[in-house]
Amino acid sequence: MLVLDVKTLNLLSNRCWFFSRPALLAAALVLACNALAQSRTRTELTFPDLPGWVTLRADFHSHTVFSDGSVWPGVRVEEAWRTGLDVIAVTDHIEYTPHKADLPVNYQRPWEIARASAEPLGLIAVRGAEITRGEPPGHLVALFLTNVTALDQKDNRVATRNAAEQGGFLFWAHPGWKQPDRKSVWYAEQGEFLSNGWLHGIEIVNGDAYDPIAHQWCLDKNLTLVGNSDIHDPIAFEYPGPPGDIRPVTLVFARARTAEAVREALFQRRTAVFSRGQLYGEARFLEPLFHGSIEIVNPEIRLRGNGRALVQIRNRAPLDFDLRLNPKLPEVDVDGKALLVSGKVSLVQVRCVSDRVSGEQEILLPCKVLNLHVAPNKALNTALRLKVKFESRN
Ligand SMILES: [Zn+2]
Ligand SMILES: [Zn+2]
Repeated sequence: MLVLDVKTLNLLSNRCWFFSRPALLAAALVLACNALAQSRTRTELTFPDLPGWVTLRADFHSHTVFSDGSVWPGVRVEEAWRTGLDVIAVTDHIEYTPHKADLPVNYQRPWEIARASAEPLGLIAVRGAEITRGEPPGHLVALFLTNVTALDQKDNRVATRNAAEQGGFLFWAHPGWKQPDRKSVWYAEQGEFLSNGWLHGIEIVNGDAYDPIAHQWCLDKNLTLVGNSDIHDPIAFEYPGPPGDIRPVTLVFARARTAEAVREALFQRRTAVFSRGQLYGEARFLEPLFHGSIEIVNPEIRLRGNGRALVQIRNRAPLDFDLRLNPKLPEVDVDGKALLVSGKVSLVQVRCVSDRVSGEQEILLPCKVLNLHVAPNKALNTALRLKVKFESRN
């Protein structure tokens, strides 16, 4: 923010007869207001909607001063808006409230404050909490609660059951964080919660850490993938912003932009996770997300004899796409690698390799997108569609 102090104002009005002091004060005020207004801006996360679904960007795990976080719930909401989210859950610990000497324990207040800040910004604030126990079972985040206080129970099973009975969506937070090698272990308690209907998802990304074991569990056990910041400090301390430092996000493919639609999508496993330039999720979401993000600027190209043409591909997504193309097709060949850079138009060279083709043909260029993961160590397979007009050499 621009600040003109009294000394500077005096200096300016004394030396410059044409600047009166009130005029200078007014100018300073306008400049300061502009600077303030400009700082309240949103960096959008430009993921497309999918056919039939609205794509919402969410963080389902964050802390405030009501547990061991260092910011007020309203600040969490403002951060969420500024960093391009549509949905934020404040999920303070039930069992760990180190600021209670300064701030009375009140499990309902964080969401009430968050909701009041979220409404004018058009954000969805989800009421949640983190049931914070030793391992096993570890930490469980519960969302869409109606009564957070009911989770304050001596017996962990009673707390978890009370969350589930409110219609809560429950996910296992950061499995493996207590293991010496960070390799997650499936406990008997998780099996019990799952069979009781008390476990619906697992965090495959917490902060900057991706957990391939948790990702595989979600696929094997039909659980929802979520990825969250679990932020305690101001978000900018850990994620200064694009291009590199974007907070982890759960993409939710919802029927509408409402809290109930987000809840329904979570129970139906319609999510993907975005973290550190990678996307994790089922092919049914990642493939339309990829194709909805890119645009072939010149989908119809002409190739003459053994000539070459340049295909221009625009990428509107907030991440690069790292492609591996099948270089040899019967009619054309292409470079094996292509990086579609976020926010830019990239070139892919196509060469004609046959004298015998002529006329117009639709060509599918099969490709793998290395940073789109449909399973641990399994990249998305898809294809780029081109229309090629082959012209004879003469
Ligand atoms: Zn935790
Ligand atoms: Zn946490």
